[in-house]
Amino acid sequence: MTLAIVSAMHEELAAVLALLPHESRQQVAGREFWRGRLHGQEVVAVLSRIGKVAAATTATLLVERFAADRIVFTGVAGGLGPGVEVGHVVVADGFLQHDLDASPLFPRHEVPLYGISRFPTDPALTARLAAAAARALPGTPVHRGLVVSGDRFVATGAESRALQAALPDALAVEMEGAAIAQVCHDCGVAFAAVRTVSDRADDQAHVDFSRFVREVASRHSAAIVRELLA
Ligand code: SAH
Repeated sequence: MTLAIVSAMHEELAAVLALLPHESRQQVAGREFWRGRLHGQEVVAVLSRIGKVAAATTATLLVERFAADRIVFTGVAGGLGPGVEVGHVVVADGFLQHDLDASPLFPRHEVPLYGISRFPTDPALTARLAAAAARALPGTPVHRGLVVSGDRFVATGAESRALQAALPDALAVEMEGAAIAQVCHDCGVAFAAVRTVSDRADDQAHVDFSRFVREVASRHSAAIVRELLA
């Protein structure tokens, strides 16, 4: 029974790794997998790198090489839904690839041959993660709902408005979650994801992004993971 913790960016993983005593490092496919024990629980932590393909490769390795039976993603995302502001937290109930379009052969956003466009996260693990986020960050709004993923950093008001119009219930946009959700669906592994909102996916989205990740989001990630494993 191994719980995997995945982040897309160095700044976030560093804060999580600081929680893991006695970790050992193993390199596979250019990624460093850190194994350790926390509160009696086997944990493996890894940097997925950015984007859906990198995330899918990482998730597959976690299941096949590291026997992960649960995967938790912590990272940052752009806020899309009304009231989903910078510094808030979003826990995903499900994921969709906003840039997947095999129409007219398949409906827009549907993953060909799966017959669905949305991959739900694991309800029990998601409930634990949402509770951990609420305990770890009192006073921080925690939203729950759809998160959409695509291989694009959404950084214009026009693109953000287009996404909101196409997917009115999407709370946030990022670049990895839907890929991991699909791998976990295929492999029968539980998946949950939490994202701190780093920007509103608009024309200001690039401003101080790295600084926000380092100073705010990484602390959020570590605090939530600590609560999850407590
Ligand atoms: N400037 C950064 C780029 C990171 S890409 C760098 O040089 O490392 C953005 C990362 O944060 C991705 O992993 C993605 O999942 C998430 N993200 C945050 N805001 C986003 C947005 N507005 N659109 C898409 N992804 C976003």
